[in-house]
Amino acid sequence: MGPRPNLLTRRTAGVATSTLALLLSTAAVGVVPAASAFSAAPAGVCAEPADTHADARVAKGGHAKLDPNHLTAKQVRERAADLAAAQRERANFRTGAVTPLATVTIPVVVHVIQENSTRAGGNIPDSLINQQISVLNQSYSGSTGGAATAFSFQLTKINRVTNPSWYPIVQGSSAERSMKTSLRTGGKNTLNMYLGELSDGLLGWATFPKRKLDKMDGVVVLNESLPGGTATNYNQGDTGTHEIGHWLNLYHTFQGGCSGSGDSVSDTPAEASPAYQCPTGRDTCSASGKDPITNFMDYTYDSCMYQFTAGQASRMLTAWNAYRAA
Ligand SMILES: [Zn+2]
Repeated sequence: MGPRPNLLTRRTAGVATSTLALLLSTAAVGVVPAASAFSAAPAGVCAEPADTHADARVAKGGHAKLDPNHLTAKQVRERAADLAAAQRERANFRTGAVTPLATVTIPVVVHVIQENSTRAGGNIPDSLINQQISVLNQSYSGSTGGAATAFSFQLTKINRVTNPSWYPIVQGSSAERSMKTSLRTGGKNTLNMYLGELSDGLLGWATFPKRKLDKMDGVVVLNESLPGGTATNYNQGDTGTHEIGHWLNLYHTFQGGCSGSGDSVSDTPAEASPAYQCPTGRDTCSASGKDPITNFMDYTYDSCMYQFTAGQASRMLTAWNAYRAA
């Protein structure tokens, strides 16, 4: 499948002609981070590397040592068991007639972390944030070409914070913990999104849902990845879409590679490794179906990804009702 059908109408602002030319001129090269890149993965966190280089998603001078995107098979099993336990908990707690939510509006609190008042220092305009919310609503409603999910997003607050010690936001640092401990607001159903320059050339990271809410819960997104931002090839808002997918319990489409239960969703064909750029026709597993390179949970360019599947929509709603519903 090609680029999302409404790319030009939806995302003109973010795609310069030169960007398209670069996209078309670079070969489709899938680069798998070294195995060691995954060794430091803390459970329940996903991080995406960015790139300014044609064949990787790591920024020039950056590195992927903090790229904990790949859960181990053991972690996937533990998370499956935890989801089942959360569902049992809910069933026991909610005796009598309980109607699981079928549609969900998620309140979104956006924390704009700034080093100073300049754009380079993180002071992105409200317009980009509003555009990001629009992109989320399009992506999760299926209007970009994928399955409709239960979710919509409502911006409730923009919280601007100038604190040089939190900038850039460093994944896994004590400063990240301090930032979230100070700023996180709302219950399990509230999406806290932290925007800033990020460490290690990363585009973003997210926490998976947990039964016991903690202050680390939320998504961290590169500020210039918002629609109309300056992150070439990653400035149409799909980093936000992707990270929120994790926050709603989705794995990468390449989770588990070609074997086993993969990403625990049955209608996303198995994929051996992350796809980068937009390698149309890529097919890395012998099982049926080409690689889901247009799925929001792969690693392709924003211009390449435009859909969730029905199975992913179902998995997200199940997780919502188990973990995040009030
Ligand atoms: Zn991810």
